[in-house]
Amino acid sequence: MKKHNFYAGPSILPQYTIENTAKALHNFAEMGLSLMEISHRSKQFIAVVEEAQALFKELLNIPDGYSVIFLGGGASTQFCMVPYNLLGKKAAYLNTGAWSKKAIKEAKFFGEVDVVASSEDKNFNYIPKDFTIPADADYFHITTNNTIFGTEILHDIDSPVPLVADMSSDIFSRPIDVSKYAIIYGGAQKNLAPAGVTFAIIRNDVLGKVERAIPTMLKYQTHIDKDSMFNTPPVVPIFAALQTLKWLKQNGGIAEMEKINIKKAEMLYGEIDRNKLFKATVPDPADRSRMNVCFVMNEGFEGHEKAFNDFATERGMIGIKGHRDVGGFRASLYNALPLESVEALVKVMQEFENTI
Ligand SMILES: *Cc1c(COP(=O)(O)O)cnc(C)c1O
Repeated sequence: MKKHNFYAGPSILPQYTIENTAKALHNFAEMGLSLMEISHRSKQFIAVVEEAQALFKELLNIPDGYSVIFLGGGASTQFCMVPYNLLGKKAAYLNTGAWSKKAIKEAKFFGEVDVVASSEDKNFNYIPKDFTIPADADYFHITTNNTIFGTEILHDIDSPVPLVADMSSDIFSRPIDVSKYAIIYGGAQKNLAPAGVTFAIIRNDVLGKVERAIPTMLKYQTHIDKDSMFNTPPVVPIFAALQTLKWLKQNGGIAEMEKINIKKAEMLYGEIDRNKLFKATVPDPADRSRMNVCFVMNEGFEGHEKAFNDFATERGMIGIKGHRDVGGFRASLYNALPLESVEALVKVMQEFENTI
């Protein structure tokens, strides 16, 4: 039976990425050696890093003055690296979910944190709209896509202070205006590569402003100066990321991805809104994530949750169980998930409705 992979992360990757990485695990760049056993300083691997950086810049249209680096430690390490490198006195944060909260917690180790708005009052089922970004903050931090709660900031915010964004789960899903951001970072395992590599896009002029001493490995400048080669970078995930970037380019780039992503999201939310059994957890369509679609059983049908989960699993739907903080279901529709998988899920929802 065909499996449809709706996991939230690590998650579906293009077949192109998986096949080319599998080949390179046997024979990388015609070296006759595995990608796992070559020096990260070999000219063949340096070429991989350089091409990945170049494709980041090309696909996201990154202006001059920015660096692209690949790190270990996951997005979670960025929660501390950002304030370590940028927070002098005060930083502003928007609290839109579990990942925002973790970022806020780390920032508090380094200075004053002004949480300008929060949607915690409604279990993070909306994006706060009315807030003022303090002009004296060193930066303003947002989580553009809230992987757990299924909300997304789908436009590039205007910020009077440097804007920092965790884009772990929506990078490359829609065109963005990078010039509006000072730092964009994310773990690769949602929309780009297997777990193990973290990307950071950094406007060079935001660095070097804090007084404190920063440990070498946690200092962005270290990795920028050494082109992600200060220490051994995650070789295999970086190679896989390059394959996904090539796949994106071959498939028309990010504008094309966005068109398909809109279509997939509209199809699934449309069915959730239509089907009497289900209800989207995010009421305002403008706040609904295109990447992580969260839904629960509608009033009166709560008792059918387990039955639907079993019904869908038996029909090849993988990873649709919701996060424990939200319950119900979550279908992640990352770039690599084909439209046919969404069609298959919608069909299963309709078939289940007919059994009730
Ligand atoms: C998954 C996720 C993280 C955590 O990433 P790690 O690489 O596991 O540290 C952070 N932020 C967002 C938005 C995520 O989806």
